[in-house]
Amino acid sequence: MSGESFQRLLAGKKALITGATSGIGKAITHVFLQHGASVVGVGTNQEKGAKLTDEIYSMGHKEAFFFEQCDVSSKAEVDQLFAHYFEKFQTLDILVNNAGITRDGLLMRMSEEDWDKVIDINLKSCFLTCQHACRPMMKAKGGRIINISSIVGLAGNPGQTNYAASKAGIIGFSKSLSRELSSRNILVNCIAPGFIETGMTEALGQEKIEIATRQIPLGHMGSPLDVAHAALFLASEMSAYITGQVLVVDGGLFTG
Ligand code: NAD
Repeated sequence: MSGESFQRLLAGKKALITGATSGIGKAITHVFLQHGASVVGVGTNQEKGAKLTDEIYSMGHKEAFFFEQCDVSSKAEVDQLFAHYFEKFQTLDILVNNAGITRDGLLMRMSEEDWDKVIDINLKSCFLTCQHACRPMMKAKGGRIINISSIVGLAGNPGQTNYAASKAGIIGFSKSLSRELSSRNILVNCIAPGFIETGMTEALGQEKIEIATRQIPLGHMGSPLDVAHAALFLASEMSAYITGQVLVVDGGLFTG
């Protein structure tokens, strides 16, 4: 294998990544582009999408990136997203369900709205996008679906019943879907990040971040790139015999 082809693990692949304008989704977008994929990046904020597009174009990936505005919890918007996607590309090789939110609070005080919003954006979105992705992947007899869960979905966390339920739901969803699609060579896996430096964790405040960081065996928070490299592995031929799994990226925090 030449140096060039070894470095470009996703050459010619087409990917759709949700929550692409910040944090982990942005890192996955950059890494996939660097490895030769074409990417449709999805987000709710048109301004952020335009900024990301400029950034990517200035790095020389002009023909390879498109931004699509979409609220992934809305069936109508996801339907439109995939209609636009398939106007641009005939095939979809890789779907990354990364969009997610938190609305933390103790169960006794949690509003129905905060419960529904987290479940809809984090979990229902996977149902909506995968329904569109499955058929073309089945036709192509191959594909990768990578759903971003969390170690909170494995371990639980006080104040995050809604978030933990959505992230545990993603794991059950992905394991079931992997069994539905494995005969067509469509691999479905999850990544469960631990404590990663993004806007989501920054919102916790310095004190909480320091307390959490002390629990991490590797002694520091992860970077979005750490998660993006795991996504690259699961999207590439290097993981061709792996499906229905949860890849934990957490510096040793969750021991199961
Ligand atoms: P982030 O807030 O930077 O990214 C979340 C992205 O989702 C944003 O780009 C946001 O615009 C997008 N999004 C939110 N609602 C949306 C909607 N309705 N439709 C479309 N896009 C929407 O935070 P992040 O840390 O990069 O989070 C990315 C994923 O990683 C999330 O699913 C999160 O739950 C998961 N995760 C993060 C951590 C962490 O420590 N940061 C840990 C475990 C899991």
